Order: sequence, then C-alpha cells, then structure tokens
Amino acid sequence: MAVKVCKFGGTSMADGTVMNQVKKIIEGDKDRRYIVVSAPGKRYSGDIKITDVLYECHKEVKESGSCGAAFALIRNRFTSIIKELNIDFDINAVLDETEARINAEKSEDFTASRGEYLSARVMAEVLGAKFVDAEDVVFFDENGAYDAARSDRAINEALRGVDKAVFPGFYGKDVHGKVKTFSRGGSDISGAIVARAVNASVYENWTDVSGFLACDPHIVGSPRRIKALSYKELRELSYMGANVLHSESIFPVRKANIPIHIKNTFRPEDEGTLILPSIYYKPSGSIVTGIAGKKHFTVIFIEKSLMNSQIGFVRKVLSVLEEHNIPVEHIPSGIDTMSVVIESAALQDGKLGLVLSDIKAAVAPDTLRVTEDIALIATVGHGMSSSVGTSARLFKAMADAKINVKMIDQGSSELNIIVGVNDDDCDKCIAAIYREFFG
Ligand code: ASP
Repeated sequence: MAVKVCKFGGTSMADGTVMNQVKKIIEGDKDRRYIVVSAPGKRYSGDIKITDVLYECHKEVKESGSCGAAFALIRNRFTSIIKELNIDFDINAVLDETEARINAEKSEDFTASRGEYLSARVMAEVLGAKFVDAEDVVFFDENGAYDAARSDRAINEALRGVDKAVFPGFYGKDVHGKVKTFSRGGSDISGAIVARAVNASVYENWTDVSGFLACDPHIVGSPRRIKALSYKELRELSYMGANVLHSESIFPVRKANIPIHIKNTFRPEDEGTLILPSIYYKPSGSIVTGIAGKKHFTVIFIEKSLMNSQIGFVRKVLSVLEEHNIPVEHIPSGIDTMSVVIESAALQDGKLGLVLSDIKAAVAPDTLRVTEDIALIATVGHGMSSSVGTSARLFKAMADAKINVKMIDQGSSELNIIVGVNDDDCDKCIAAIYREFFG
C-alpha cells in the first residue's frame, strides 16, 4: 500500500476550525497515514505564532525562574482550540505538565519545541491516531547533525503495526538526551525525515498557498504558479529567498527520490506544486521556471595582473575568508579579476576591515574594491540550457528597465543565471525579468 506522509504548517494548526479541515483532508485519502505538524501559527495578520510566544516564555524563565505570564497565552490558545474542536481531551493536564517541564528544563530549544508537541497531541486526539514523540524517534549526532540511520530505525520501530500516527515537527533529541530544535521553519525537515524513513510514495506539504509561484507576488501581481519543478530548481529558488519550503527540507527526501507535493489546506482542490527528483522530472517546455532575489550582499572585487598564472591565488583569498569563518556565496572570476560575494551580515562588527587587510597581506592585489548593498537575483530553469538567447533576453529586459548590472554569474549547471544589482533595484529587476519570460 502506498504511504503518504503529510506535513501541516502553522496556519493549518491555527485554530479548531482549520484542524477539522485538516481532519477532513486526511480522512479523504486512506494513504495519508503519517502526519507531521507545526505549532499553531497566525489566525489573522497581526496575530502571534505560538512558537514566538514560547521564545518569550523562555526569556521569562531566564529572568524570573518561571514562565507564568507568557505561558497564559499558550494555555488560552490551546484551551480555545479544544473548545472549538469540541473533543473530550484533558488539555489542562497536558498544559500543566508542559509548563512544569519548561520551568524545570530552562532550555530554549525545549521550550520552543512545545508548540509542536501540543499541536501533535491535539491532532492525534482529533484523528484517533497514535502520538509519536519526536523526542523518541528523531536523533541528532554528536556534531548536532540529524542522525538518519538511528532516526530511520526508531521511526520504523514506532510505526510497526500502526495505521495512523501524528508526529510533532521541529525537534528531536541530541546525544545528551536533551530536546534540540531544527532552525526556524524546521517542521518541513521533520516531515521529510518521516517520509524518508517510511519510504513514502509522496511527501505532501500542506501550507496556506497553492504552491510555488514563479516569483514573489508582492513584486508582481498574481504571478504564474509553477506546476512542477525539479529538486535542483527548488534548491536554487528557496536558497534565494522563495520561502514556501525550508531549503534544507529537501535533503532527506531527495536522497530517497520521493516527490514533494505542496498543497493548500484552505483550497485542497487546487493542484499545488510538485517537486520531483530528476528520475521523474520532465521539462515543462518553459525556459524559465522561477525568479527569486535576495538583498544585502557585499562584493569584494580583486584585480591583479597575471592573476591567472599565479598558482594558488584564489586559494589564498579563500583561505582568508575561511580563517575568519565567513561563508562565500559566489566567486565570479575573469582572467585578472575575481570577486567574492558574501552575505553582508557575515561581515559585521569590523570583520570586513580585517578581511580586507588580510587579503592585501596574502595576495597584494593591484585593486581591492568593496561594493555593498547588492541584491542577487537568480533566474532558474532547466529549460535555459537548451534555449539559445536566454541571457540576451534577460539582459535586454534589464537594460530596458534601466537597471545597472553589477555582477553576472552563470551557474556551471546552466540551471541559473545570477545577476547582482543595487538593493534598490531588486524588485524592479525581478519584475522586468518576469515580464520578459512570462509576459
Ligand atoms: N514552529 C516552528 C517555527 O515557527 C517550526 C515550524 O513551524 O516549522 O519556526
């Protein structure tokens, strides 16, 4: 029998009415057997996410020893969810025990994880399904990385003979036996971990949008929806800021060639977006799949005559950055020039000055120049490698919109063209490229 793993995001857990809608979705397909949930999210704009309240709880514990005031908000939210659901579940007992454990553990990760814990407890009750605590089945290794082999074993063990189960997303347990969370938005990763462990036929990721759009709808009004894209395209787009899905979440399922289906809890009849491993991916016929941009980069430009013949030049420059523990995003290069593109946040607190003087000492460049406030815009699509004139169209669109190109980097896979522009030109540039390729 095919097994579908479904992850429901924060807005799908926001109140009792939506949770009933989730129940309907799950019961509408008997293959939807294993469910991973986020903490309750916002019910309306201006509302506060439960996870954010929990971070407040932790602050309160640190300052005063216990989390009474902030925890009252959590209590209110969950008691009203139970009322709306009209189920017979002693949520107060679970809340009491949770509050006591938050006060006793005094751990930020533990506290933050309780939103997922509580919504999974409730959802298991709603579905009459087994609750499987992520603390018992998702493990991190001694380096803090997710331990796939150990987690796979534990998940399968917990699910033996179980028809339906609900897991809390976002956390697991470290080698010291303590609860540890993934980064924010990490329930997507938990969903992928469960999908991989049970070798799911599909990983359904239920959100509040009907899939991936070809670009940010705040920039272009109703952009086209992407019906299907490959894992590689997703990686490029989400890394660049298209944030429907946590960008690390693809790794567990990608390895196992499991497709991801993005669906909308509030419009379950919408087709959504399929993210496919290369073995299933068929080009859609369109040249560009999507466009995404990210602001606040710094470009360090280095020029030195005969750079190309100086063995080890690039390595010396990169060693400086490595010594300062600074991640490098791109390295566009010419014969006598190279640029290093870095997220500006990594160069704060005087680090930029230190890096520049170390580069000078290491390679004595003829020119060393810094440009700040650069946005990177990635135009992504498998269709680009086989179609002639794509970059010409892209740069003409930018020129027509009077946007100055500061940097160009075509990925070696020909899957993307990345351009650097001033931060202020970012949205205009995305809109111009979108109009060129999508009309
Ligand atoms: N609740 C967590 C967060 O707000 C994790 C998640 O929703 O995926 O980041």
